[in-house]
Amino acid sequence: MTDYKNLIDGKMVDNGQWLEVLNPATEQVVGRVPSCGKEELDSAVAAARRAFTQWKKTTAEERQQVVQGIAAAIKENADELYRLLTSEQGKPHAQAQQEIYGAAGLAAAQSTLTLDDVINQDDDTRLSRTRRVPVGVVGGIVPWNFPIMMAIQKIVPALVAGCTIVLKPSPFTPLTTLRVAELIKDAVPAGTVNIITGEDTLGPLITEHPDIDKITFTGSTATGKKIMEGASGDLKRITLELGGNDASIVLPDADVQKVAEQLFWSSFSNAGQVCIAAKRIYIHEDIYDDLSKAIADYAKTVVVGDGSQQGTGVGPIQNKKQYERVLDLIQDAKDNGYKFLTGGDKDPSGTGYYVPITILDNPPEDARIVAEEQFGPVMPLMKFASVDEVIERANNSEYGLAGAVWTKDTDKGVEIAEQLETGTVWINEFMQLSPFAPFGGHKQSGFGAEYGIDGLKEFTYPQVITVKRDAAV
Ligand code: NAD
Repeated sequence: MTDYKNLIDGKMVDNGQWLEVLNPATEQVVGRVPSCGKEELDSAVAAARRAFTQWKKTTAEERQQVVQGIAAAIKENADELYRLLTSEQGKPHAQAQQEIYGAAGLAAAQSTLTLDDVINQDDDTRLSRTRRVPVGVVGGIVPWNFPIMMAIQKIVPALVAGCTIVLKPSPFTPLTTLRVAELIKDAVPAGTVNIITGEDTLGPLITEHPDIDKITFTGSTATGKKIMEGASGDLKRITLELGGNDASIVLPDADVQKVAEQLFWSSFSNAGQVCIAAKRIYIHEDIYDDLSKAIADYAKTVVVGDGSQQGTGVGPIQNKKQYERVLDLIQDAKDNGYKFLTGGDKDPSGTGYYVPITILDNPPEDARIVAEEQFGPVMPLMKFASVDEVIERANNSEYGLAGAVWTKDTDKGVEIAEQLETGTVWINEFMQLSPFAPFGGHKQSGFGAEYGIDGLKEFTYPQVITVKRDAAV
């Protein structure tokens, strides 16, 4: 077991109080991190504030170089990082590798984003120009499903925009983030990036801190609402990436054999603990029987187990609370007599938070497993008859994160996509995010956006400067 330290003002530090982190595959402690409160937060925020006075004056090229240093440090240490990530998060090694390389790639790509001045008016009367100025010190709060990707998608745009940041990982998955902190410590100027760990109670202290100017948060919708409330005291800027209940719609012309495996992974990647996983799959009645059988047959070939073992496709649920929630949803489906194509039969008493791959056969629209975000390896397949009906069912949700349409007729797919009330819709693929396209939820899936120029702008204020050219002075 290793102790991991926090990064505050360019130094790795601890306060002598520790939180233990478990491996969800074994329920054994894999590491300890500092348990911080107000005092440590105050010193991290003060360091970020001091660093901001210099960092905001740097050029875009200087900031780009620093961010590229972060990308390089992650990439060069990817082997160590992905193993550590599996040991605390549970995801299979191949998926942990994808996350680590993905985070390095995202950092490198987003380092190139710039916010150029915009000329609003340029004539004999006046020159009016909009420039973007950094908001200041950012508080970043991230969840446990993609700890490194989420940390990077907050740290990088903050730095690129000229802000400094205090980041809090989830208490369930802080180890890899603190190892990254150690690796990037010398690549970033002291105080620009601070990473501190603590229980959930550290979150509200960040949200309400008087010297933090903006909160960027990824997590559940319930916590997002608390953050919005906490940040309202001094009208902090906020970006919220929240839950989802994404619908996939499969039209009758889709090739059953070709889409079955893709649909499976669109739901079961990271054991279903992905905000943009397909959480409801609507299949046209003409191909429902064949496709549901093909997905269930494929599911039977996928191994559920310890993510560090070769051959594992689906790892454990990341933590006990979520594990119990997923088992509760399965029990609810059993109690209601819904039909299972696979799964639903596990005794939850063994070691490790394992849930069998569970696929439900056409449960009703008001079933909890359809209406709620399951965030686990449990997927409902549902039958539909007409496009109008399925669009209405897909949109019948308080969430609006993403969705997908599967069809050979891509024009038809786009026509359906334009009627879905979500921030992203994929035609014939899933979970593809571009570093240059805005990613954000409609309705209760979020507030604002990350990624691309839209995401970067959220770390800045617009400032308009006008010069009167024909002034009588
Ligand atoms: P969570 O909301 O429980 O926790 C997220 C983070 O918030 C953690 O760091 C936690 O310590 C902190 N936190 C908890 N209470 C807080 C409070 N009152 N104030 C401030 N911070 C607080 O979410 P989770 O269980 O870690 O993650 C799962 C959820 O995240 C799912 O709903 C999932 O859909 C969502 N998610 C969304 C996206 C997206 O981009 N839209 C991505 C990943 C996960």
